[in-house]
Amino acid sequence: MVARFLLDHLPPALLLVKTMAMDAKPPFARKRILVTGGAGFIGSHLCERLLADGALVISADNYLTGRKENVAHLIGNPYFEVLRHDITFPLYVEVDWIFNLGCPASPIHYQNDPVQTTKTSVHGSINMLGLAKRTKARIFQASTSEVYGDPELHPQNEDYRGSVNPIGPRACYDEGKRCAETLFFDYHRQHRVDIRVARIFNTYGPRMLPNDGRVVSNFIVQALTGEPITIHGDGSQTRSFCYVDDLVDGALRFMRSDAAGPGPLNLGNPEPTTIRALAELILEMTASRSPLAFGERPVDDPGRRQPDIGRAMRTLGWAPKVPLRQGLERTIAYFDEALRGGGKRKTLAPLIARGA
Ligand code: UDP
Repeated sequence: MVARFLLDHLPPALLLVKTMAMDAKPPFARKRILVTGGAGFIGSHLCERLLADGALVISADNYLTGRKENVAHLIGNPYFEVLRHDITFPLYVEVDWIFNLGCPASPIHYQNDPVQTTKTSVHGSINMLGLAKRTKARIFQASTSEVYGDPELHPQNEDYRGSVNPIGPRACYDEGKRCAETLFFDYHRQHRVDIRVARIFNTYGPRMLPNDGRVVSNFIVQALTGEPITIHGDGSQTRSFCYVDDLVDGALRFMRSDAAGPGPLNLGNPEPTTIRALAELILEMTASRSPLAFGERPVDDPGRRQPDIGRAMRTLGWAPKVPLRQGLERTIAYFDEALRGGGKRKTLAPLIARGA
């Protein structure tokens, strides 16, 4: 009320200020933003949100695990531009901000071509940091909870240095992302590049690939198609699952804020669940009769993972809002639709078994 009264009684000389204050511009009005991995699972949600907030968005993706379908609905928007580009090669564009998300993130995909995975993290970071240096762009790095390896500390805070096997099958991703963090902080110290390094914990939601190989998508697809639910080990290992909208919200707050500095900053949902409990919840929500099938634990599979998000809460006022059941409802609905479209499922999922 007071603010409105003051604005209404401003002298004419301050009319411009008044107009600007009254014209609630979207937060990223006309900011030029590059998203590498823009056609990927998280990248496509981020592009969507940035466009809604007024940005000019360039998606760069080599479509290794990204899909054009993820951004098809954005094509035609004059503020959205799509490039087929592999970040292991330099890219010359003029931008204000860069989100570097380009990298396969699921163990089965990143282990498929491990040399390329390391190159994507290392050469990709060098190329994107070079671009940030030239354009003076602020740059966000999608780092990962995998930098903590198979942690001995629970929950994991940003000061924990991790327990990573440098020669195991996960090392191409873990060590690649660790080296990327080194590069980000060296470009920051040596060249004063304005960085934001986020460590992203297990994230899920619509637009994960049905054959992504990660646990949430695997279990949902298996439950919807009546296939056995493939639990690695006895399912007592834990993960903390963050819904993609919460993650995107945290990433944007981090980029807009100076309070959290360059990071590193954990972004994830601190609520842990066992893999077996996740399987049972998905079975219940899909009213599926899929049996549980217990198999081998993969080499170096972390036993527990849970973010300490105290720093993000203190500096950004951020915490995830979407409870697991609610996020799973949306994700199950997405896969149900996608599987029916692909002819793998003929009937509507009995969504959501209870309470939807
Ligand atoms: N997992 C499982 N069945 C699957 C896929 C994964 O039991 O079909 C387990 C996996 O061994 C790990 C956890 O679920 O303990 C999370 O795996 P995911 O690949 O989703 O992510 P990450 O290991 O990178 O956290």
